[in-house]
Amino acid sequence: MSDCLFCGIVEGRVKGDVVYRDESVVAFRDIRPQAPVHILIVPRKHVATILDLEANDQAVVGQIFLVIAKLAREQGIAESGFRVVANSGADAGQTVFHLHFHLLGGRHFSWPPG
Ligand code: AMP
Ligand code: ZN
Repeated sequence: MSDCLFCGIVEGRVKGDVVYRDESVVAFRDIRPQAPVHILIVPRKHVATILDLEANDQAVVGQIFLVIAKLAREQGIAESGFRVVANSGADAGQTVFHLHFHLLGGRHFSWPPG
């Protein structure tokens, strides 16, 4: 989608601090980090929200979680712990409608979330 910010980063039209890419997944640092490590992991394919996932997207969702584990180890937050967040819709505060998973770590997070 040409007017989608994260499609722009995936396709290299928009500058992003990309830390990982493969044929189906791209990961880049959040522009407004909420923790010492704050990386967004996205499918290359444009999917607006969790609700828009289709049956043939199962593989990419699985790959996203393998990438999250790899990045958590590489970023040094595997042992201390980390949080994975996917905001979906208005109540959750989703602002970019290209499916993304936040990988957050490097500090303590409270529960329940705000
Ligand atoms: P959400 O509220 O879950 O939709 O999260 C969207 C995230 O995208 C926020 O944490 C923003 O800081 C982040 N963001 C917005 N624009 C950019 C950008 N150009 N590069 C990297 N991250 C961005
Ligand atoms: Zn997109």
